[in-house]
Amino acid sequence: MDRLHVILVGGGIGGLTAAIALQQSGFKVSIWEQAEELSEVGAGLTLSKNANRAMRSLGLADKLDNIGFRPKSSGSKDLMTGIIHHKSSAPGDVRVAKGEVDPDPDARFRMFHRADIHGLMAKIILDNDPDAIHLGHCFDSLEQSSETVTVTFKNGHSVTGDLMIGCDGNRSVVRQSMFGEDSVDFLGYVAWRGLVPIDSLPPGTIDTDTSVFSGKHRSVVRYKIRGGKTINFAAYAQKSDWVDEGWSVPARKDELVELFSDTCLEVQHLIKNIPPETCFKWGMFGREPMSTWTDGHVSLLGDAAHPMLPFLGQGAGMSIEDGVVLARCLKAASSVEEGLQRYENARCARTALVTIGARFNGLRMHGTIERALEDRAKEFDPIIINDYNPATVPV
Ligand SMILES: Cc1cc2nc3c(=O)[nH]c(=O)nc-3n(C[C@H](O)[C@H](O)[C@H](O)COP(=O)(O)OP(=O)(O)OC[C@H]3O[C@@H](n4cnc5c(N)ncnc54)[C@H](O)[C@@H]3O)c2cc1C
Repeated sequence: MDRLHVILVGGGIGGLTAAIALQQSGFKVSIWEQAEELSEVGAGLTLSKNANRAMRSLGLADKLDNIGFRPKSSGSKDLMTGIIHHKSSAPGDVRVAKGEVDPDPDARFRMFHRADIHGLMAKIILDNDPDAIHLGHCFDSLEQSSETVTVTFKNGHSVTGDLMIGCDGNRSVVRQSMFGEDSVDFLGYVAWRGLVPIDSLPPGTIDTDTSVFSGKHRSVVRYKIRGGKTINFAAYAQKSDWVDEGWSVPARKDELVELFSDTCLEVQHLIKNIPPETCFKWGMFGREPMSTWTDGHVSLLGDAAHPMLPFLGQGAGMSIEDGVVLARCLKAASSVEEGLQRYENARCARTALVTIGARFNGLRMHGTIERALEDRAKEFDPIIINDYNPATVPV
């Protein structure tokens, strides 16, 4: 099994993590990415303990500390008044809520500009194999025999390998080619994002390194990245009007200003100082968790397998876990089919739990959870989510 050629379609955080984990396990990897250049959207990304542990298992913890930001304070605030309900000096350490401190060095958040983590991981892959990444290749179709998979791209090029993993994001065309058209529902959330230079804000605006503002039907999350010099800003509103699902629909700032005009001063200063060219919006859509995502020598990973709402901050974390577990499963198996089945068995229930948990948390954050669901939501203990270790979980 060692010299298997694994074709990865999509070079987002999930595809890149899988590539590093597979290379380290001795497999040949090729990544086929539709974009013409390696880049990521200009937005932040938070990794919690489970994803941090995955990165440590790949030997990346120190490198990530060089490019990431480790916050020392966080606040849960009221969106309208800015009053802090709860403050923590160990953001990300979910044991603090129970009066304990987690001694694990990965327990606290690591926060990044996406382009920084993406660039670091791509460099590691190319240092291992300069031919591993192929840009400008948009997936078109696949064919598999009992031994191999052949993928054809829209530019006419094709590649044959021993197995293929679709890592092509929440609107995965690989998933559609395997299972047919998606059934997708607009979940009634619209989101905006922007990057605010901290120097552009009036002095004293920013107190804690990270803050979550909750209000009825609206919320805001903001945190420091890039050495604390930039604020990653995301605002969410429950709205009935449909907005495109993509991450990069340019947004009119005046719409955001108007919608949040009655909120606390900190949020208003942040919105006012978002450079217009970094302001984007998108709609959030839901897909039911899948009970299977493998067919023969083809499987899915990351958002392609389990798209989820951002309200637990775990979408990338799940993609990262997938990559580490996939490599371990293939390494442990005596056939491709067995390896992919082990992978799916190890990941399906875990990712379905987090997908549903993110939906519950969205309702809770926006003050719209029903009483009956409130009790169910308490079943999603953050310790269960954070303590998962993809490097040691049984496969
Ligand atoms: C507002 C917001 C905030 C978030 N914050 C966090 C957070 O703090 N922490 C966290 O863990 N998660 C977070 N997430 C979720 C996280 O961003 C995603 O879950 C993660 O990016 C998924 O990674 P992926 O590699 O599976 O997919 P993607 O990142 O979507 O990558 C897919 C890749 O496939 C490529 N591709 C697509 N189609 C094709 C094709 N046909 N052919 C070839 N290539 C193709 C794309 O160009 C892209 O490079 C957030 C999400 C949102 C919306």
